Amino acid sequence: MSSSKNVLAVISGPSGVGKGTVIKRMFELEPTLCESISCTTRSPREGEKDGREYFFVSKQRFEEMIQGGELLEYSAHFENYYGTPRAFVEEKLKTGDVILEIDVNGALSVKKSHPSAVLIMIVPPSLEELSRRLRSRGTESEEKIAVRTARAQFELSKRDKYDYCVVNDEVDRAAERILDIIRKHKEVL
Ligand code: 5GP
Repeated sequence: MSSSKNVLAVISGPSGVGKGTVIKRMFELEPTLCESISCTTRSPREGEKDGREYFFVSKQRFEEMIQGGELLEYSAHFENYYGTPRAFVEEKLKTGDVILEIDVNGALSVKKSHPSAVLIMIVPPSLEELSRRLRSRGTESEEKIAVRTARAQFELSKRDKYDYCVVNDEVDRAAERILDIIRKHKEVL
């Protein structure tokens, strides 16, 4: 995709693993990183802004983007579409390393079209710890926790397809490890 030596790093991890916190820390430690912004058909949550967390689009617009090849990958979760805008990522890659935070299916499609991408999965210290973290949010019903735990088990079962797995035992340490992986990957591009 890019002739420069900028890295496309795809980061996945089950819900509750603390992905968002680790990625936020990576940006604090390395402000030159760029984050791709995905498109979604879900409604904005409180505090979310169009063009910041996501580009919020209608289902019709999303389907046009699929048809027009405007998405690098896309998938459906919890009855909504999510996808990575191709042109946006290509532009960002011209200026720096790009982080894509997407699910397992999306990550594997990106690797197919861009084999030079590095796939990193953030994993919990254990499945028990993940369930505990999901519960401690206190916002989800037991039924939803069960759905998320099953989804987490599915995602973790794909860890062998990733280039690296990073255990989120401690946020700073996990963020540093991922930044190291990106630096090393730059050398082999
Ligand atoms: P949420 O609605 O909580 O923001 O995200 C739900 C799920 O959608 C998360 O697992 C997240 O990783 C995934 N997701 C967000 N953006 C993308 C994207 O561009 N492509 C794919 N395939 N998944 C995404």
